Amino acid sequence: MSTPTTGPTGIRVGIGTDVHRLVEGVPMHLGGLSWPDEPAGLEGHSDADVAAHAACDALFSAAGIGDLGTHFGTAEPEWAGASGATLLAETARRVRAAGWQVSNVSVQVIGNVPRLGPRRDEAAAALTAAVGAPVSISATTTDGLGLTGRGEGVAAIATALVTAPVDG
Ligand code: MG
Repeated sequence: MSTPTTGPTGIRVGIGTDVHRLVEGVPMHLGGLSWPDEPAGLEGHSDADVAAHAACDALFSAAGIGDLGTHFGTAEPEWAGASGATLLAETARRVRAAGWQVSNVSVQVIGNVPRLGPRRDEAAAALTAAVGAPVSISATTTDGLGLTGRGEGVAAIATALVTAPVDG
């Protein structure tokens, strides 16, 4: 895929979201970490790490080279069981291969569990290591409203900023 144009600033922003169902007895993986004390975890393809998956889609979006389904869907079944952190590292590699530098990624988790605060720095470090550029992670709840407020699932939304190489 060719490098898309950047416009006059040489930078591009991207957005990504993800949601997975919260299920009792399923291991929790979130923000590139395992949460062994959680009684419920996220269910889905791979480890259902919504934070990592949203970050992947934000990076693909910023680079203009598709999305998670484009890259790791049925066309590439070898990625079906990969962890969120592994997918995120491969995403960053593909974004750079398309000609972009990754400036940063910001992720917000929306849900009741797990409590991110005590392990926020650890999660940020895990995601940062995967991307090879700064990743920040925060969390919020929805006052009991909606699918995340009822505890049916956990969502994440992410933005990413990428820059084109400077000519000359
Ligand atoms: Mg997902």
